Amino acid sequence: MHPTDANCVFCKIVAGQIPSFRLYEDDDTIAFMDINPVNDGHALAVVKGHYPNLHAIPADVLGKVAATAQRIARAQQAALNPSGINLLQANGPGAGQTVFHLHFHVLPRTAQDDDLKVNWGHNPGDMARIKQIHEKLLKAM
Ligand code: 5GP
Ligand code: ZN
Repeated sequence: MHPTDANCVFCKIVAGQIPSFRLYEDDDTIAFMDINPVNDGHALAVVKGHYPNLHAIPADVLGKVAATAQRIARAQQAALNPSGINLLQANGPGAGQTVFHLHFHVLPRTAQDDDLKVNWGHNPGDMARIKQIHEKLLKAM
């Protein structure tokens, strides 16, 4: 059994209580498109259990989330041909963490000068565009 928190948005996504554009799932992890993408293809690799941050998660489970992030990055490279990919994992409000359930952002970069700031604002994405990119990535999974 995974630890869970009934008030947590990612636990609700894991449980299927909130819809998501899901890219991948295994026993310990899931991956889905970020709803406020900073770039096309912005996806999240998420542990299924409710571990709030890097300090709380067992190392072997962290390894499993990292492997899922790698899987997403490979699909992004194949489907979107970005100029680069960043992994970002925030711990605590001071690091910009807003969902306290461990996840990696997997961020395709469009160009070296795309001006991505680490603490970007949350601007609602275009659902049709997220869906379109989701379908493109799914084919590469
Ligand atoms: P953090 O700020 O904790 O590093 O990242 C949390 C991320 O979760 C944000 O990029 C935010 O857009 C994303 N997010 C928050 N709520 C939802 C949701 O309900 N669905 C999806 N797909 N992403 C979410
Ligand atoms: Zn949770």
